[in-house]
Amino acid sequence: MVWARNIVVKSAEEISLMREAGRINALALQATRELLQPGVTTAELDEAANEVIRKHGAKPAFLGVPGAYPYPATITASINDELVHGIPGKRKLKEGDIVSIDCGTIYEGFVGDSAYTAGVGEISTEARRLLEVTQRALEIGIARLRAGNRLGDVGAAIQQYVENEEGYHLTREYTGHGVGREMWEGPQVPNYGYPGRGFKLLPGLTIALEPMVLIGTARTRVLPDEWTVASADGSLTAHFEHTVLVTENEPVVLTVP
Ligand code: MG
Ligand code: MG
Repeated sequence: MVWARNIVVKSAEEISLMREAGRINALALQATRELLQPGVTTAELDEAANEVIRKHGAKPAFLGVPGAYPYPATITASINDELVHGIPGKRKLKEGDIVSIDCGTIYEGFVGDSAYTAGVGEISTEARRLLEVTQRALEIGIARLRAGNRLGDVGAAIQQYVENEEGYHLTREYTGHGVGREMWEGPQVPNYGYPGRGFKLLPGLTIALEPMVLIGTARTRVLPDEWTVASADGSLTAHFEHTVLVTENEPVVLTVP
């Protein structure tokens, strides 16, 4: 399914608010990253992100998102085979885990959305390669977020790298998206596609690009908590995301400190 609606070109003033939302969101993610070590709970990471967001007069964007029940936290924390939407709690991170932290911030009515995956202490060679490939996939996609390119150009470049060159898998069930006054605006931004196809990018669009990579297969399953999405086969997964402004020239990453 492709969402063809709710595609919003932002004004200069709106972009400056999104830049601030993105900056605060980056600081919140940074606070979680500084705490990553064996023994820390994902609830503690959540609290750290929440504190940074509130301190800057902003609000967590994920809290209360509708689902099987309203999303109960500021961040999502997805460990190892968990790909996205893991709910923070008492679970302690262990040496060798990889954890994906996704966070959204609303500032003056505008949303910044960004995620990273990182290792806890020493991680396996396989895990390290997965993180490198997923982060690189995001960079490859961002480089193609230029006015005049089509979404198929973006998705195809990510897919070519992750699946054809590296032999990993991209979920077809979750995608990137436009972002602005709402966390999910159009267009839908798949991490796969055909060059020259799909929506043509316009200057002033703000896109949350987010490759989600799985080692084993592209298939996912939802855990009994009804939020957490994990790989169907239990293999490791990773997720990186930035909110990016499309211009006629270089793309501008908004979710940076
Ligand atoms: Mg996100
Ligand atoms: Mg997103």
